[in-house]
Amino acid sequence: MIPQSLAFLMTYKCNFQCDHCSVSAGPEHREVIAAEHMRRVIEEAYVVPSIRVVVFTGGEPTLYPELLKTGISLAHEKGFVTRLVTNAWWAKIPEKAHQFLQNLRAAGLDELNISFDDFHLLYLEAFGGEQNVVNAVRAATELGMTVLVGTVLHPGARIRTGYLRKTFQEAGIQQEIKFLEDFVFPLGRARQKLPAHLFVSDPEKREKGACREAGQTLAILPDGRVLFCCGHIVNSRAEEIFTVDTLASGAPLSEIVARMQRNVLYWWLHLEGPEAAYAELGVEKRFQRKCEACFYLGTAYRGKLQALAAKKEEIFARWEGEKVGLPA
Ligand code: SF4
Ligand code: SF4
Repeated sequence: MIPQSLAFLMTYKCNFQCDHCSVSAGPEHREVIAAEHMRRVIEEAYVVPSIRVVVFTGGEPTLYPELLKTGISLAHEKGFVTRLVTNAWWAKIPEKAHQFLQNLRAAGLDELNISFDDFHLLYLEAFGGEQNVVNAVRAATELGMTVLVGTVLHPGARIRTGYLRKTFQEAGIQQEIKFLEDFVFPLGRARQKLPAHLFVSDPEKREKGACREAGQTLAILPDGRVLFCCGHIVNSRAEEIFTVDTLASGAPLSEIVARMQRNVLYWWLHLEGPEAAYAELGVEKRFQRKCEACFYLGTAYRGKLQALAAKKEEIFARWEGEKVGLPA
């Protein structure tokens, strides 16, 4: 498996402070990715042929509009598909929403990914409200962009795909909009702030077995660390076990990808999933969500996990021949 996308978590700063935020973003954060790191990684990603998409996310990346525009422009020039993940705070006035997106579209933005649900709405109200999402979606479709709206659910959630589809239809938006639903994860701020009954297992049982997301996206954190996962463990104590390198080391991205290929945890999660890692550790514990299992691997069970590093060759040998892409 080789990475297909790069995700710049440009900052953990956000003008919202959603209760369900798994990266615990909020207004108090100050860290922001260095423009030089962004430039370097995009240039180096050009020689990693599997990488096709560059994602700008956070926190709220639009709080740094010039940096965002520079990143989009660099990625576009290199031929990558570019995607922005945003809470749409900037879209209160239709004309301004259009102007804002037009500016980014001119820089090379291809896809708009809006995060909106019951949790976001509480904060979006201060910047306009649900109409912001309609304005942002309309402007993006007028500009010929691909649009996705991601919603995080809990039992009893009002804002769901069906509700949004109807809202966009009633607003006369013709273009097909993509939707992505997921259930709230008991991680980050959600873990501290939300009551237990809001956390449910994924009814589609996607939580069993291998995690194909491991290694699919390389996450670049605001401080320049490179992780082989941009899942819900980012900005937590668990992220260390997912860290492949830091850009400050000077290693080119191709070398960081090669290093990831020698990381036994990466292969374990990618081929068998966190549950298999727990079985190897002899730990019987049930989790509702895969990323939650990973969080505890990187925190409560980290000592046990490190002890397994000595068995790395033995573990690799088990997969030899039956799995593709293992390091020689
Ligand atoms: S969920 Fe999104 S909008 Fe809400 S605080 Fe986190 S980064 Fe900000
Ligand atoms: S299950 Fe683990 S490897 Fe997969 S996305 Fe979540 S934290 Fe990352």
